[in-house]
Amino acid sequence: MIRCDALIVGGGPAGLAAAIALRQKGLDVLLADALRPPIDKACGEGLMPDARKDLAALGISTSEQDGASFDGIAFLSPRHQVAAHFERGSGIGIRRLQLHSLLVARCQELGVRLAWGSRVLVSDGRPLLLDSKRCVYRYVVGADGQSSRVRQSIGLGQGTTISRRFGTRCHYRIKPWSRMVEVHWGELGQAYITPVGPQEICVAIVASDPVVRMEAVLAGLPALQAHLQGAAKLSTVRGALTTTRKLRRVTAGNVALAGDASGSADAVTGEGIALSFRQALLLAKAIAVDDLGIYEAGHPAILRMPHLMSRVMLRLDAWPWFRDSALGLLSAQPQLFAHLLRMHLGERSLGDFMLRGAPALGLRLLLAPAAKHMPSGELAHSIFTMGVVGETELNAQSRGR
Ligand SMILES: Cc1cc2nc3c(=O)[nH]c(=O)nc-3n(C[C@H](O)[C@H](O)[C@H](O)COP(=O)(O)OP(=O)(O)OC[C@H]3O[C@@H](n4cnc5c(N)ncnc54)[C@H](O)[C@@H]3O)c2cc1C
Repeated sequence: MIRCDALIVGGGPAGLAAAIALRQKGLDVLLADALRPPIDKACGEGLMPDARKDLAALGISTSEQDGASFDGIAFLSPRHQVAAHFERGSGIGIRRLQLHSLLVARCQELGVRLAWGSRVLVSDGRPLLLDSKRCVYRYVVGADGQSSRVRQSIGLGQGTTISRRFGTRCHYRIKPWSRMVEVHWGELGQAYITPVGPQEICVAIVASDPVVRMEAVLAGLPALQAHLQGAAKLSTVRGALTTTRKLRRVTAGNVALAGDASGSADAVTGEGIALSFRQALLLAKAIAVDDLGIYEAGHPAILRMPHLMSRVMLRLDAWPWFRDSALGLLSAQPQLFAHLLRMHLGERSLGDFMLRGAPALGLRLLLAPAAKHMPSGELAHSIFTMGVVGETELNAQSRGR
């Protein structure tokens, strides 16, 4: 029999961050993952400044030696481009393997017990088994990813899946040509480019159609293709599912979910890992005072803005006329784009943006030629969404006030 205060199922970024945060609060933590480190996964590999701050709260500082800093975000389409710098700090592009190694090293430093190559057997209504041994624990954290078995075992099923898209990534040997993370918008999907070293970039593709290949998306983005011309590939192409998912609850009894297991935002928001750091810090606060209710109550706020951004991005992906109008406006008024970025990072409020940005955006969309062919209800809804307030979020906000 194995004993611990907290058993963590899954040793991806979410599980490792939770292990660190709980150990920092003095708990005896056992983390198990079926794989062995360092664990790789398809990812855009960008951490925004806010994610770096949370990583520092977990005792990990990242420097240029771990990857490559970036100063902001740029959106590019064949007709428009717009960029905004971060107001405070810089982000870091960091290979997934390197991030995993840093998190594992911090766990080891703190004395987290790590069981690699160990599958946790999760079956409904039965105690968890770790490599066929019974485990006795006060808390379980399900950080077992998108298809979480722990989530299913506590009866939370799939939750509400708002979007399901498919991502791939590949690394290229090339000096980064920009200190921005570039998001290129094409007809078949988005390609985003993160500098991850002095001579290395990560190219991540996200598309709605599962059969669309990376080459096909890149073929629709000639400016990006020109940059990649002749650059050697440094890794094999890896793929993964990315969803925007909401759960009704993220705890049941002594079980809490974290990371992608607890709900997610589309990969193009670049927020998945950051969310898991924030959740880890909140979860540790809750468990330290034996009150998972604190985590349950605070979790929705962590996902609210990324969900809102996902909805906007998904509309931009799905409707070319809408994308063209919105990117056209943002490139003509880059301060609006800067405002959106700051809102995304939690540095500006939604209300502020509604006052300054939404009316201009709404007018622009109304005047777009394609708008004439749209049913008025759908048009109103898209303006409403692009005014960056989805109905759900609006309701959630007014309930919160
Ligand atoms: C194409 C793409 C690009 C992305 N780009 C970004 C980005 O730029 N920035 C960003 O922040 N996020 C990005 N994301 C999202 C990010 O990758 C995820 O949010 C993140 O990996 C979630 O971490 P996790 O620990 O919750 O899950 P995972 O990383 O999936 O880890 C789950 C772990 O649980 C283990 N496991 C599962 N079941 C068991 C079991 N029964 N027993 C033991 N172990 C088990 C698995 O082996 C795995 O290691 C991207 C995602 C995709 C697909």
